[in-house]
Amino acid sequence: MLLQTLREQIVQIGLRMVEDGLAHGAQGNISALDVETGLIAITPSAYPYYLRKAEDICVIDLQRNLIEGKWKPTSEIALHTIFYQKRKDVRAVVHSHAPNSTVFGVIGEQIPAVLTEAAFYLTGSVPVAPYACPGSDEVAEVTYAAMGECGSAAVMAHHGLLTVGDNLEHAYETTLAAEMTARIVIMARSMGAKEIPLDPVEGAIFRIIREYGLATRTR
Ligand SMILES: [Zn+2]
Repeated sequence: MLLQTLREQIVQIGLRMVEDGLAHGAQGNISALDVETGLIAITPSAYPYYLRKAEDICVIDLQRNLIEGKWKPTSEIALHTIFYQKRKDVRAVVHSHAPNSTVFGVIGEQIPAVLTEAAFYLTGSVPVAPYACPGSDEVAEVTYAAMGECGSAAVMAHHGLLTVGDNLEHAYETTLAAEMTARIVIMARSMGAKEIPLDPVEGAIFRIIREYGLATRTR
């Protein structure tokens, strides 16, 4: 079986995503790039997380051709391949329907980077990409444009969250960091906070960028 380890890791990350309340059924999608072969392991379309085994994960190439697998790849295939085509630092992509992050996608407001804990994973506030039809090339393009060449996360308006990383664990931890930050901001505002000071976190972000660089954030 091609890319067996990556396929097994994708099954595990999918189960964690359901346990963490960031997706249910077959919502969301996950992929990882194998640099040696240039092939991508990616979740299948409409096949529930709790039924998935390694062989249910699809293997595609960068041109979106199915190389191995018994199911059709996710309809959000373009949302994944655009990052592997345009950014050399991206080896994994996680798209979830993380509810607290999606609140910011509904009101059209970026998630402010208010937690030092999140600074390692989020390189600043999380931008919101404008709405585009799920599964379209357009949704891939607007999400890529919102995240930019150095970002690690973007909220998709009226839809969900997308994060990238240099491996699956890193991309998923970035999802958790964005979601925790969104939750804390919502809670702070529910207690009446209007302005949340960002200065300490910006200091933490700049220190991390100085120390690790933007493209070499490994755990
Ligand atoms: Zn989605």
